[in-house]
Amino acid sequence: MSERKYILALDAGTTSNRAILFDRGARMVAVAQQEFPQYYPQPGWVEQEAAEIWESQCAVAQQALAKAGVTAEEIAGIGIANQRETTILWDRKTGEPVYRAIVWQCRRTAGRIEELKGTAGRESLPQSEGETAIDVEELVRDKTGLILDPYFSASKIEWILDHVEGLRERAQNGEIAFGTVESWLVWKLTKGSLHITDVSNASRTCLLNIHSLEWDGQLLQLFHIPEAMLPKVVSNSEVYGVCDAELFGAPIPICGLAGDQQAALFGQQCVREGDSKVTYGTGAFLLLNTGRHIVSSQSGLLSTVAWKLGSGSDAVYALEGSIFTAGSAVQWLRDDVGLIADASETEALSESVEDTAGCFLVPAFTGLGAPHWRADARGTLVGLTRAVKRAHIVRATVESMAYQVRDVLALMLEELRKDSDGQSAADAVLKVDGGASRNSFLLQFQADISDLKVVRPSNVESTALGAAFMAGLACGFWTMEELAGLNPGEGEFSPVMREDRRQRLLEGWRQAVKQTLS
Ligand code: ADP
Repeated sequence: MSERKYILALDAGTTSNRAILFDRGARMVAVAQQEFPQYYPQPGWVEQEAAEIWESQCAVAQQALAKAGVTAEEIAGIGIANQRETTILWDRKTGEPVYRAIVWQCRRTAGRIEELKGTAGRESLPQSEGETAIDVEELVRDKTGLILDPYFSASKIEWILDHVEGLRERAQNGEIAFGTVESWLVWKLTKGSLHITDVSNASRTCLLNIHSLEWDGQLLQLFHIPEAMLPKVVSNSEVYGVCDAELFGAPIPICGLAGDQQAALFGQQCVREGDSKVTYGTGAFLLLNTGRHIVSSQSGLLSTVAWKLGSGSDAVYALEGSIFTAGSAVQWLRDDVGLIADASETEALSESVEDTAGCFLVPAFTGLGAPHWRADARGTLVGLTRAVKRAHIVRATVESMAYQVRDVLALMLEELRKDSDGQSAADAVLKVDGGASRNSFLLQFQADISDLKVVRPSNVESTALGAAFMAGLACGFWTMEELAGLNPGEGEFSPVMREDRRQRLLEGWRQAVKQTLS
């Protein structure tokens, strides 16, 4: 038998699927990528075809093997990282989807969620006489760590059950299966012999009790979802089974599963309490490892399961905060204002000036998320004088990514500190990835304004790497100690800004945000 020299990571993203083959040194041996169609049947609705997700994911996996000239026997295991919350229902017997996949971005259940926040929610939860009415939002927050929002899978499942004739009854009879994308892919990879979901993906459905890591009866009742359709909840790293031999020429163990953001946190090896990562893409996703603690946020951050490495181990949790506008503000400079021709120019332009000449951009183009939560807020550019030139505005735009990340991170560290009696990793660092993490000016400013060390890894494909790491741990390809050295920092940015300057800048930013909110 050939030596098992590789791990195959499947990165099932929102707009494209990728497959990356990693060797023992976590080097990328082959990459294949394919986009798949998105459907927008109505304003605010986003759908995908589950069959197209599967076909493109399977095709890129086969392409990656072919490109590298690697056979299935040489692959030690498959790890999957995926777009989270996207909801698929299929017929257990035929394996055919019963409706299109409803994508995480889809807002079709916004009205239903508003109803649940009111009396409809309380009415669907029977309570004993004399008991004070249940606060549904509080119930959801306590059990799931999430807010009641159309974003998560539960209301999407309910919607499909309500809109496909006879489906709820078939679901009650056990004929219908629900899964998020990793669950669907495992089903297809094993020709229907495994119906599972991992704890990190399950924690985004709004149906999982993140304390017990089990499906919650009361939440199932709230959303009218029959338990018979749910997958078995498994850990992020264990050998679940093998894929069908026909697909790649031999069976390969499937042994790692995680939602994309949690996979990235693991790929960045943010494995200690207090470690955090930010992905600077169109928006910015910030996750902070809170260890064994579920930090219940009072300021709208989400608590979520980061991972559970093996069925017998404890779960590790994270706080999550998203920033709606990050790299897209740079796109705005390029496409709408025309101040730059390419995003990469922003680094040299920002460095060409000492500061922003007193101006601040608050890019609330689509409202402000954590910690303000003002959907109605709109962007502002404040502090303009004749001294403000093109480079200053560009710099203010780049700095705005760092200020927003700093605000969310400060809030997270504060909540972690409160929750763990002042104990948190004092030497915590912020790891970065995503398109805008190429901008070293941004990373230095991030370190300065957050007063925290910022580290850019040598491989910024953190999501795929995280899935590979989880799979590699389960099949004995890597040990936990080895993982720590596999993706070393390529760039380290330590804070050098003087405290008085930092405070002055933060005060300016706060004033600008205040103006935005008013
Ligand atoms: P996504 O996965 O959300 O599509 P990416 O991780 O590919 O995003 O990052 C692309 C974003 O990063 C774009 O919004 C772009 O404006 C921004 N970006 C890319 N390069 C730079 C750079 N050198 N400096 C600042 N922003 C950049």
